Amino acid sequence: MEAELAGKVSLVTGASSGIGEAVALKLASLGSKVVVNYLSSELGAASVVDAITNGGGEAIALGADVRDSQAVKTMVQEITDKWEKIDILVNNAGINRDTLLLKMSDKAWDDVIDTNLRGTYACTKFALRSMMKQRWGRIISMSSIAGRIGNVGQTNYAASKAAIIVFTKSIAKEVGSLNITANAIAPGFIVTPMTDKLPQEHKEALLQMLAVKRYGKPEEVAELVAFLVSDRASYITGQVIGIDGGMPS
Ligand code: NAD
Repeated sequence: MEAELAGKVSLVTGASSGIGEAVALKLASLGSKVVVNYLSSELGAASVVDAITNGGGEAIALGADVRDSQAVKTMVQEITDKWEKIDILVNNAGINRDTLLLKMSDKAWDDVIDTNLRGTYACTKFALRSMMKQRWGRIISMSSIAGRIGNVGQTNYAASKAAIIVFTKSIAKEVGSLNITANAIAPGFIVTPMTDKLPQEHKEALLQMLAVKRYGKPEEVAELVAFLVSDRASYITGQVIGIDGGMPS
C-alpha cells in the first residue's frame, strides 16, 4: 500500500527540536518529503534530517528566521525550486518570554509576537501560493491552551497564540474553496525544551490539574498533525483542536 503522504512536500518550521522535530519525523514516516526549518540550531536540524534519511525518507534542512519575511520568501523559493511545491505547512516555530505584564519589556513583547504571530503570517502567505496553484493544501498552526484561556505571566505569549486562532479561522475562509484547510492545535503541557525551562514547583502543580495525571509527548501532538493533514480530515477546517490531557479550561 502506498504511504499516506507519498508525493507530498511538507515544511515544518522550528523543526530542530521538540514538537517540530516529532512532527517532521512523523510526516516523513508517512512518505512526505520534509523541510526541516531551523533558526540557529543547524546541528539539531541536521540530526533530524539524518534520522529521516536513515529511515529511508527524504528531507532537507533550511535555516530561516520566520520573523523575517524576506528570509521566509527565499526559503519557500528554495523549496519550490527543489521539489516544485509545498503541500503541507506546519507553523510550529514559537517562543515564550514569560513575565508579569508590569515587568514586561517592549522587547519581550515584540519578540514573542514577531516569532509566533508574524512568523505564522509570513510562512502562510508565502507557502499559500503553491497550495492555491495546485488546489490542495494543509496549514496547521501551533496555538496553545494559553491562547484560549490566558495564563499568568504569559500576556505576550497568550495574545500571540489567541491571534493564531483567528488568523487560522480567517485563512480557512479565504481558501477553503480550493481544497486548502487551515487548523490550529492547542497543546497543553508537552515535554520539550520549552517546558523544561519551567520551575519544578510550577510543573508539579500543573500535573495535579491534568485529568490524565501525566504530561504530553511531542509524538502525541505529531499524531494529531498527521491526521489533520491527511485526506481523512478534508472536512475539518477553521478549527482549534486541544491536546492537553484534560487541562481545566
Ligand atoms: P521548542 O523550543 O523545542 O521548539 C520551538 C522551535 O522554534 C525551536 O526549534 C526554535 O529554535 C524554533 N524557533 C524559535 N524562533 C524561531 C524563528 N524566529 N525562526 C525559526 N524557528 C524558530 O518548544 P516546543 O514546545 O516544541 O514548541 C513548539 C511549538 O508548540 C511552539 O509554537 C510552542 O509555542 C507550541 N506549544 C508548546 C507547548 C508545550 O507544552 N511544549 C504548549 C503549547 C504550545
